[in-house]
Amino acid sequence: MIHRGLSSCPQSGRWRSTRNIKSMTTRIAHFRAQAYVAQRELCYYCRCKMCISDPAKFARSHGISVPQVRQVQCTAEHLTSRRDGGTDTRSNIAAACWHCNKLRHARKTPLAADRYRDYVQRRISRGAWHDRFLLKSLRQSAHSSQ
Ligand SMILES: [Zn+2]
Repeated sequence: MIHRGLSSCPQSGRWRSTRNIKSMTTRIAHFRAQAYVAQRELCYYCRCKMCISDPAKFARSHGISVPQVRQVQCTAEHLTSRRDGGTDTRSNIAAACWHCNKLRHARKTPLAADRYRDYVQRRISRGAWHDRFLLKSLRQSAHSSQ
């Protein structure tokens, strides 16, 4: 379950009560924004530049399409998933792109965050992660902005 602009760990979609949704999502969004800055706008796993606000502007400035921006939409990622006892704390929240986040949790048994990062990096080195054009555009952009 993806909540656009908010936390999108699949686990985050399941709140027991609707009363706390606002404060919880606000807090997670805050941690996500902090992680986004700390990670220099790069996905924790694939190191691609992420979009945190205006998709149309992001698409224009990186020469990609708006639908492609969805792949790299910044999401809050629980390093230790809630299923495994992870909490909504700053130290447990990283910023990850929608694609990496979704695929990590699509696995029957999600890999631990550091192992998943290794997995993603191996896939990238074989050109088997994200759309090739997208990867090239965003990794180049990330490089040139340093
Ligand atoms: Zn990613």
